[in-house]
Amino acid sequence: MVAKELIITLPNSHLRQKSRKVGLITSEVKHVVEQMITATLEWEASRPHEVGVALAAIQINHAWRIIIIRNNFEDKHDQTFSVFINPEITKLEGEIEEDFEGCLSVSDIYGKVPRYTKVRMRATDENGHQIKLKAEGFLARILQHEVDHVNGVMFVDHIKEKPQNFYKLTPEGKLVKLSYEQVNKDSLLWK
Ligand SMILES: [Zn+2]
Repeated sequence: MVAKELIITLPNSHLRQKSRKVGLITSEVKHVVEQMITATLEWEASRPHEVGVALAAIQINHAWRIIIIRNNFEDKHDQTFSVFINPEITKLEGEIEEDFEGCLSVSDIYGKVPRYTKVRMRATDENGHQIKLKAEGFLARILQHEVDHVNGVMFVDHIKEKPQNFYKLTPEGKLVKLSYEQVNKDSLLWK
């Protein structure tokens, strides 16, 4: 099986389940991390206009609290990721700003999602060491999106009441507004 085919998309109900804590970092955990990275890169290679910046384990159908984040968002050639196990947002700070977000588990739909501009996060790395992280801007947005995944929350859930915030990616790579009726009918985001 090709790794990108492991990626599950809405309306798969597993995406709305809460993932469980990782105990020992076993070889099985490391294998899941490798699959997450391969799946993200394969997905990216199949999508001409998008970059695979992050993934949560539940997106390849493993309900473990693991997320991976691309180390360099600007350069597609840098294919390295940081791994965060049992991530927890410890503080949300700054302003709330709306900006575009997409998700490997929500095909072709983008949304303008309100997020805090600054966060602090705590996690464990692949070697079992505690990490504390302070982030702002795009990275802060991504961390909130990924930690949502381990809690069974999708970005579309934040804008369910904001039909004007939905966009669709055209085959040419442009984002165009989508009607709320179309979102519901075509993609079954909340079924
Ligand atoms: Zn996502």
